[in-house]
Amino acid sequence: MPDIRPTVGSGALVLNATYEPLCVVSVRRAAILVLSAKAVCVADGEGILHSARNALPVPSVVRLTRFVRVPYRTHVGLSRRAIFARDGWRCAYCRGPAETIDHVFPRSRGGRHAWENVVAACARCNHTKGDKTPAELGWRLPAPPTAPKGIAWRVLGHRAPDPRWADWLDLREPEAA
Ligand SMILES: [Zn+2]
Repeated sequence: MPDIRPTVGSGALVLNATYEPLCVVSVRRAAILVLSAKAVCVADGEGILHSARNALPVPSVVRLTRFVRVPYRTHVGLSRRAIFARDGWRCAYCRGPAETIDHVFPRSRGGRHAWENVVAACARCNHTKGDKTPAELGWRLPAPPTAPKGIAWRVLGHRAPDPRWADWLDLREPEAA
């Protein structure tokens, strides 16, 4: 078992054998994949990991040596953290720090709990808005809310990407239907 003391909170991007990004795992898990020849390191992070017999650079991106078939997830789960991440932790109405989730068309009036009807909001705007619609208050959203799209969202969720992963996580990828 390698003695691994990576940077706190660091992770490694795992690519399928086809270079398709799959997920993010701990650096420790990525190192074990490399040491057991289940993956090869394709981009190094910072530092060296030492085990009893080996020293290897901290892996930042690893590629599986064998193709794995994974169920293709096209929808990003609707969670509080994911909504905040999509909206940049800013209130959709006043751009202040967001603390709450607001249903644009109020739930009390049949509004859905869906990506297209939720925004991050500060407590004050949320309270002021109550069970009214933005139109009834003369408020405007900067853009209609939509579900996050693209491979980076599927792989990362609310996580911030490591700049070293940029080559494999094309943020401009068009939506896969
Ligand atoms: Zn606000």
